[in-house]
Amino acid sequence: MKVTVLGKYGPFPKEGGATSGYLFQHGKVNIMLDYGCGINGRIDEYIAPENLDAIILSHTHFDHASDLLVLSYRIKKPIKLYMPDTKDGDLAAAIINTDAFDIEYYNENTEFSIGDLSFSFCKGIHPFTSYSLKIKSDDKTFVYTGDTVYTEELVEFCKGAGLVLADAMQKEDVKNPHMTVLEASNIHKISGATVLCSHAPAQNAGDPTKYEGLIEAEEFTSYTL
Ligand SMILES: [Zn+2]
Repeated sequence: MKVTVLGKYGPFPKEGGATSGYLFQHGKVNIMLDYGCGINGRIDEYIAPENLDAIILSHTHFDHASDLLVLSYRIKKPIKLYMPDTKDGDLAAAIINTDAFDIEYYNENTEFSIGDLSFSFCKGIHPFTSYSLKIKSDDKTFVYTGDTVYTEELVEFCKGAGLVLADAMQKEDVKNPHMTVLEASNIHKISGATVLCSHAPAQNAGDPTKYEGLIEAEEFTSYTL
């Protein structure tokens, strides 16, 4: 399994940066996890969007999905898109209205397979309904947390994962609907997974390098497990 960080910022990018968008690849399967601001200008270096098997949205905040509207101008045939069945906010309606995507709605009870990979979800706590996603192969497990605060359910969901890509770049004392680097460290301690900390604020981000088991996500960089 390989995940490449195309955009790591949120809720808006640093100069020259992009917001959430991660290319997940395993065998012949190519999937984008979220598709935020700036992804269209970067994805072709790795794959033509037309060749994606699917795009999976954790939730429909602008910084996770806004570039889908621009992508709709480009693609000639619909791309499979999985999005939460709550359809939160104006962006969800706009995405649905483009007719550019073959949409399947999901919730915490949904499970499906793509190739030999299985997908399941855990509901987070966030202003819009946001889901964490687990991808399993025969011998490897990867989790992407989407946007959420720290919850016991999430830690449980991460057990058995080798790598957790987490919304966890807030400083230790910050209270907002995202996780801190300290909470990412707790996920590592309890689950044993290496935690790749992403969704960094453009300024005043936390420092994952202070903690064992954490890595700071860098754009244009691939991480394998
Ligand atoms: Zn969000």
